[in-house]
Amino acid sequence: MTQKLKLPDNAKDNRVLLHSCCAPCAGDLMERMKESGIDVTIFFYNPNIHPKKEYEIRKNENIRFAEKLGIPFVDADYDVQNWFKRAKGMEWEPERGIRCTACFDMRFERTALYAHENGFSLISSSLGISRWKNMDQINDCGLRAASHYDGVDYWTYNWRKEGGAARMYEIAKREEFYKQEYCGCIFSLRDSNDWRVKNGREEIKIGEEFYGEVEIDKKLTVTKEPACSLDVLDKDRGKAGHDSCQLASLPMDKGQKK
Ligand code: SF4
Repeated sequence: MTQKLKLPDNAKDNRVLLHSCCAPCAGDLMERMKESGIDVTIFFYNPNIHPKKEYEIRKNENIRFAEKLGIPFVDADYDVQNWFKRAKGMEWEPERGIRCTACFDMRFERTALYAHENGFSLISSSLGISRWKNMDQINDCGLRAASHYDGVDYWTYNWRKEGGAARMYEIAKREEFYKQEYCGCIFSLRDSNDWRVKNGREEIKIGEEFYGEVEIDKKLTVTKEPACSLDVLDKDRGKAGHDSCQLASLPMDKGQKK
């Protein structure tokens, strides 16, 4: 067993409402909290994920693991239109830029509201475990969302510590999770595909990548229809001043090992 997690000093009880972005990122947090005797509930609110089929796959994978561990799972709205409203004007921002701040804000605001309405005093998120994310940016958003409610705090734990980042991959492989190949929104899908094409790789095929050599679950496999309306996005490309995909040169977050 890994080292036991200790709740922060400001924890008022043993409960944590954990915003989960996906099963691979949340897997280690879920296991560690459970093993540490923390009363964790998963809050799945990710209207950023596009297309809906990708959203359903990621959500179902998370439900599958929550059920296995006996962790309650709150399935929040897929209010994608609100997400697009919030991202308006930031369509060509690079990953880790202001669109991502707005995206984290939106997801954490809903998490904090649910915590407030349902008696949770501590929230956190799996988003920070990924080495491709800026942990300070995520923590700022979490703290800002929690500050709207008396009695709700955001737990700024570094989930990559104590082998967390490595265990994330081990668990994903062991559990044969679906392996998403882009952050989540239509714009990250577009930019990931741009980068892949420029680097001689095939475009992302939604629903086909799993960790390990496993049979693809037919229930989760989707058709090969276009992943998003990239033609529509392309029309605006010149106007928006998009230069090139940022992913190729995107550094890992400070101090993280690959
Ligand atoms: S790249 Fe990821 S974090 Fe940024 S806006 Fe898109 S889905 Fe949200």
